[in-house]
Amino acid sequence: MTIQFNNQIKNNRDVSSLKDEVRRLAKERNAVILTHIYQRLEVQDIADHVGDSLALSRAAAKTNASVIVFCGVHFMAETAKLLNPKKTVLLPDLQSGCPMADMISVDDLRAYKADFPGAPVVCYVNSSASVKAESDICCTSTNAVQVVSSLKEKEVIFVPDKGLGVWVQEQVPWKKLHIYDGFCPTHYQITPKEVQMMREKYPSGVIVAHPECDPAVWRLADFVGSTSQIYKFVSHSEGKEFIILSEHGLVSRMQKDMPDKNIVTTFPLPLCPNMKYHKLETVISALKENKNDIEIDPGIFDNAARTITRMFEVTESNNDIKNYWEGPQKTLV
Ligand code: SF4
Repeated sequence: MTIQFNNQIKNNRDVSSLKDEVRRLAKERNAVILTHIYQRLEVQDIADHVGDSLALSRAAAKTNASVIVFCGVHFMAETAKLLNPKKTVLLPDLQSGCPMADMISVDDLRAYKADFPGAPVVCYVNSSASVKAESDICCTSTNAVQVVSSLKEKEVIFVPDKGLGVWVQEQVPWKKLHIYDGFCPTHYQITPKEVQMMREKYPSGVIVAHPECDPAVWRLADFVGSTSQIYKFVSHSEGKEFIILSEHGLVSRMQKDMPDKNIVTTFPLPLCPNMKYHKLETVISALKENKNDIEIDPGIFDNAARTITRMFEVTESNNDIKNYWEGPQKTLV
């Protein structure tokens, strides 16, 4: 099922001329467009790179462009800025925040740390730059197990996502994770009852879940993985039917790229409204007017950047991570 947004329905000629204008402006400004896979399909179409948080962070770290247009949520644009302090990073619509990232402030983190002295803090990339600055190392859902395993301490603080935190804890039982109580409202919208209904409706469907789901949900899945791992798993699998427990943008991307497979999701559709703000028009005005240039407080910049570079130091030596993304439309690594 393809979702259309009323204010986005245009005829094909309008869409095509808007896309042409985006590409012309991007060339004129030596800009690279990075688009998260949860974005609207037309915003994915105009991107240089489409991927999940890790893939886009890596693309941001490698780019030679002078301007980065980030069609994702605010923390992703901040991450791109932390990796490219001298470049202009534009977020086409500033409303694109992440409710999970907003569930923890620096004061919350300091208070939480006080309860577990000596435990290093692993922060999920879905966090603000100021929370990153107060943490020891960053992770994504693709590399969280690898990052936590790399720490010498037995006790580790994990913020802010409890779904992913519990998933990591189960993969590394020799560690003791202190998991903050944040969550993704979109993934938590999926309930065990809905999964059960899908299981009955599609008895031969393979159930695939993102670890941001409630643990009661991902425990029902046949495969649990990050966005890129889900994409790779489904595209490489010989199975023909998949029930995806993740944000709808990933579902529509896979439906488009893998027409030979029946790819379905739960109802009501798990849509993250924050990921749908960017439109072709807002990308055009960002490029034309240099709108929404991301800035980071110089007082926290170095510490926040350090948590991200530490993550790369741990993960970049692993070839599985290096070669993980195989989306056919835009190959990132
Ligand atoms: S899907 Fe969840 S984690 Fe991702 S941006 Fe939306 S609220 Fe944040």
